[in-house]
Amino acid sequence: MTELTCADTISRFTFDDCAVRGEHVLLDSSYQELLAIHHYPPVVAELLGELCAAACLLAETIKFDGLLTLQIRSEGEIPLIMAEVTNQQSFRAIARQAQQASSRDFQQLFTNGQLVLTIQPKNGKPYRGIVMLDGNSLASSIGAYFAQSEQLETRLWLHSDGQRASGFLLQQLPGDENSEQWQHLSHMASTLTKEELLSLPRETLLYRLYHEESVRLHPEKPVQFQCTCTRERLENALLSLGEAELRDIIAEKSVIDANCEFCNRFYSFTAADVDAMFGNSSPESHH
Ligand SMILES: [Zn+2]
Repeated sequence: MTELTCADTISRFTFDDCAVRGEHVLLDSSYQELLAIHHYPPVVAELLGELCAAACLLAETIKFDGLLTLQIRSEGEIPLIMAEVTNQQSFRAIARQAQQASSRDFQQLFTNGQLVLTIQPKNGKPYRGIVMLDGNSLASSIGAYFAQSEQLETRLWLHSDGQRASGFLLQQLPGDENSEQWQHLSHMASTLTKEELLSLPRETLLYRLYHEESVRLHPEKPVQFQCTCTRERLENALLSLGEAELRDIIAEKSVIDANCEFCNRFYSFTAADVDAMFGNSSPESHH
């Protein structure tokens, strides 16, 4: 595949004459870094790409300071898939218990699926929105979410081929709605093919779609794969097991080995660490 200057970046575009804005994201090496950590079946790898692209688009569309998580829970072949992105466009993602997923049918993959959007601000209370999965794609489900919760016409196009993932979003801005213009712009966007979205620079895409409009392309921002795990976060996860359980493991193995399920990074905790976690010290740790 040819290298693209817009790879691993996201950009906003606006129209001079209509109250519509757009975002375009293309994930390339950041997405491959993510896939290198776990071995997912092709359909899961592609959906993870779509979900990451969607999370990046939403992170640019919704104003927040912290962490945005997009999660699907279902009774289908993929019980849980999630992507997390910071307001600085660092993302990580995971699918759980989906090693056997092979269907190409959206309903079979996500039977009775729910889409959960969570925003965890740095300060303040988390926001959570839930919708039943709608239609036959992730893109249409997210569009339905916006229609329900924000009353803003929003359309997304998401594609991934296991090498790259791309997302394109249009949103009508409140105040000056013009449904004829909206219909026209979103109709044009729906003519984009998967191949075009995954292989064309964004200037070319926008020119193909909107050369009759006056489009303004805003500066691009880098997007990267980066796990937000820390020793402290792993420690907090261990705390939920309870002191007795942790002491048992130490007694048996002398260390507690834990790895981050997102990036596989390995953390090791000794008896002294467990003492520190519970704010006391056991007799053995005195020297
Ligand atoms: Zn990690």
